[in-house]
Amino acid sequence: MKNLKLVVRETIQSTVVNVSGIEVGKDFVVIAGPCSVESEKQILETARAVKAAGANMLRGGAFKPRTSPYSFQGMGIRGLKILEKAKQETGLPIVTEVVDPRDVSWVAEFADVLQIGTRNMQNFSLLKEVGNSGRPVLLKRGMYSTLEEWLNCAEYILSEGNPDVILCERGIRTFETYTRNTLDLSAVPAIKELSHLPIIIDPTHSTGRLSLIASMSMASVAAGADGIIVEVHSNPEEALCDAEQALTPDIFSKMMKRLRPLKSFLNNLPTD
Ligand code: PEP
Ligand code: MN
Repeated sequence: MKNLKLVVRETIQSTVVNVSGIEVGKDFVVIAGPCSVESEKQILETARAVKAAGANMLRGGAFKPRTSPYSFQGMGIRGLKILEKAKQETGLPIVTEVVDPRDVSWVAEFADVLQIGTRNMQNFSLLKEVGNSGRPVLLKRGMYSTLEEWLNCAEYILSEGNPDVILCERGIRTFETYTRNTLDLSAVPAIKELSHLPIIIDPTHSTGRLSLIASMSMASVAAGADGIIVEVHSNPEEALCDAEQALTPDIFSKMMKRLRPLKSFLNNLPTD
């Protein structure tokens, strides 16, 4: 890891990223919401439900980097305005993806956290732009990337003068096909060893299976993650994107009732 300067851990001090008073890296953060913004009704219903269940931030993509050019690409600015409305009503900060360097400055006006997706992790001009955006960045791990490559991408953002990077492990490609990706949970303690940046887990895209999301969320807490980002849809059967992996508000709420107590239990364990 010889070229890394700013992301490497040199002291025991960890970075805390403040998002409207939510301290990522200190408090356990839960970011929840649909894959994509589809309508005002869908976002407002989902935002109310995840807030009631104890989520700290609302996620939702207005720009979707899809594998097929014929799949739904997102609502763009109309989607961002809907997210803004949900924020006004619920107070939940917004996490939303930006895919094009030309869009960063205006998307940053709507986003409390700018998400860089797995397919764009090494889009260096995009990394430079978000490094100058004045907004915290959620940097997802490239699905084919090593920890070193990932940390180099965080280094790009920090070297532009933006210290507020949250890493997100979202699963990597392996030979396994039962799950959509393979969740590399060891990335959590490994990143903690190497870097001072906070790291959260995406149990949704890493598994792609509803039945595995609660277990992997609990495992994320146990591995020492600083939070999770999880897909929840008010009506998953109608979802235009990633319908098969979206939690219903009811399942999400049940999961949350187990997650926070697990975190408190672990906090009270002896450290050595
Ligand atoms: C997402 O979070 O909606 C997403 C597209 O994730 P990823 O970039 O990890 O596939
Ligand atoms: Mn998705």
